[in-house]
Amino acid sequence: MFFKHKPYHPDTAKWLQFALDCDPEKARMSNRNIIMRCPFHEERTPSFAIDPTLGKFHCYGCGKGGSLEELVEVKCVSQKK
Ligand SMILES: [Zn+2]
Repeated sequence: MFFKHKPYHPDTAKWLQFALDCDPEKARMSNRNIIMRCPFHEERTPSFAIDPTLGKFHCYGCGKGGSLEELVEVKCVSQKK
């Protein structure tokens, strides 16, 4: 059970691309979630998680969360240099 490979949600690639566009330096996969720096507040350590399986996002830094449809509207410029 623990070692069984779990399938990725079909939207994972799409959101990974979003994450890499927003935060090319720090975006990464963790289990089936995408971890990156928050598009809503500036931070050095990634605390923003996208869960494509649930279709949700949550930021452990500023507490913002919601559905991934909302995230499409977000212009993530804060982490770019
Ligand atoms: Zn945040």
